[in-house]
Amino acid sequence: MELSDDEMHLYSRQILLEGWDLDAQERLKLSNVLIVGCGGIGCALAELLARAGVGKITLIDPDIIEMSNLQRQIAFTEQDLGFYKAEILAKRLQQINPFVTLKSMTAKLDQSNASALVAEQDLVLDGCDNFTTRYTVNAVCKAQQVPLISASAIGFQGQLFMAEGNSACYECLFPKEQHANENLRCADSGVLATTPNVMAALQAHHALLYLGLGKMPLRQKLMLWDGLSMKQKLLAFEHDENCPICQAR
Ligand SMILES: [Zn+2]
Repeated sequence: MELSDDEMHLYSRQILLEGWDLDAQERLKLSNVLIVGCGGIGCALAELLARAGVGKITLIDPDIIEMSNLQRQIAFTEQDLGFYKAEILAKRLQQINPFVTLKSMTAKLDQSNASALVAEQDLVLDGCDNFTTRYTVNAVCKAQQVPLISASAIGFQGQLFMAEGNSACYECLFPKEQHANENLRCADSGVLATTPNVMAALQAHHALLYLGLGKMPLRQKLMLWDGLSMKQKLLAFEHDENCPICQAR
């Protein structure tokens, strides 16, 4: 597969980069990724990956755009209020980069659609706003052995990690029963405009490292970003021997 002259021009600053080359750029073009959630994280994440040249991006989100989203969800404007997030985001990405193949689904990712969606992917990127979806994405990625990079942001805090192959998974890190009664969402708890965008940029960066170069610096590691001190911590985590997701494999 070769990149066209227009694509070579568009991606020239990446192809020129030492440590990134034509092969890395072509690997990006051949990549299929699924982005779960088109909110504060999904908007910025999807835009960066589309600009960088990821070949096929599938977006899934059930929601419509509301006024309170515009403070941080950078793909949307006042004219978009009331329209579906996944559709509007896909349209914007297509205008930014005509070489990307886009697919959008207005639906909640759940047991009924997750397997078919995840099966086609080289990488799944979770930026959703609730634990139920997060656990479903983790379980399906593990079952189908599709790598997962998951980001979250709330208040001034962000988290990021990667699960891949036989690594420990999201449920090893956060056992389900401990989160049963927890329902922290931006919708309820507040979030600074920048927090999800910082985490989305880190998540997109990690996705490019993985898709282009096969690097996985956050495999089985949890990155904690604190937006008040601007400090960042990396914690290694292990398999939870009681994790039902890892045991099922
Ligand atoms: Zn596990």
